[in-house]
Amino acid sequence: MNSSFQIGKIMGIPIRLHWTFLFIILVVAWSFGSSSLPWFGNTYGFGNVEPLSVRWIFSIAFAILLFICVGLHELGHSFVAKKQGVEIKSITLYFFGGVAAMDEIPRDSKLELRMAFAGPLTSGIIGLVSLLIAVLSSSMFGPRQPFTIFFWTLGWMNLILMIFNLIPAFPMDGGRVLRAWFASRMPYAKATRKAAEIGRMFAILMFFLGLFTLNFFMLFIAFFVYMGASEEEKATTINITLEGIKVRQIMSSDVRTIDPAMTLKEIKDLMFHEKHRGYPVVEGGELLGIVTITDLQKVPEEKRDITRAGDVMARKLYVIAPEEEASVAMKMMNESAVRRLPVMDAGRLVGIVSREDLVRAIELCSEQGL
Ligand code: ZN
Repeated sequence: MNSSFQIGKIMGIPIRLHWTFLFIILVVAWSFGSSSLPWFGNTYGFGNVEPLSVRWIFSIAFAILLFICVGLHELGHSFVAKKQGVEIKSITLYFFGGVAAMDEIPRDSKLELRMAFAGPLTSGIIGLVSLLIAVLSSSMFGPRQPFTIFFWTLGWMNLILMIFNLIPAFPMDGGRVLRAWFASRMPYAKATRKAAEIGRMFAILMFFLGLFTLNFFMLFIAFFVYMGASEEEKATTINITLEGIKVRQIMSSDVRTIDPAMTLKEIKDLMFHEKHRGYPVVEGGELLGIVTITDLQKVPEEKRDITRAGDVMARKLYVIAPEEEASVAMKMMNESAVRRLPVMDAGRLVGIVSREDLVRAIELCSEQGL
């Protein structure tokens, strides 16, 4: 899905903008600029004194400023992460904030603590320095000067960003801090589960708060936190369960392969009898591709006895080595949206590992763990 576009690169990290972020810039600009929000005028002395156009210019400037502040917050996280050797793939700015995509969050509570704190700390420092400048400017030029207003707003924007992100709602920063703290006292899986539970509790609270105040922004954040907490909990549990298990241990090694000349009708009968949903296509000992039930279904019934495996097979192959971790197989399947991976050892097909094999392994291992 290409719903975000790259706007630049900082510290070697691609900064991407999601289309929803453009939407929030307009909303923020409108709420600052709209005359129906008198608090802005009252607080900063614009009110009815300044012409509307001046207020709009300020509003759009503030909205863009907010966007830069969110970006700086994410860069704060990324800076510490990179210094600790964690690779950051990109930073995407959504309407609810920024998300830094990293390879894998390190399972080290001290490192996670430092990384989680870095964002709010960045916001906090920018906030305090801005407020300090605003106070100085106020005493020198007066409280209603554009310069003072600018730094006053910038300061509060960042302090709110800091406080909001420190709410202990996993997977928000505060929630990550909480998980790291739990993880220093109990096993990582249990710590994640506890932090996710608290995250979901906060999400439900935010949902009702958003509902009663008709704050749609709050509703979206509640939704994001709830889904995020559950998803990360699931992913962490699976990774921990599969730890130390190799592909070799869970793959099926007696692989039936098929010839590229085999017709789809024959393959269908084979699938029906053997209850398999995919076969590697091999010719002269070389793996050419893979045919799955989905490839079969794309061809109409009456054409299946003249269409051959070689015509429909997927040629783009994702393969894995038998000594690779099972969790890597899981990650590969998720990223490439395939259900099975041929297992190759020194150029030879030695087995096949499917999503079902992984699910079975997870079930058996968690059963053993209990
Ligand atoms: Zn953050």
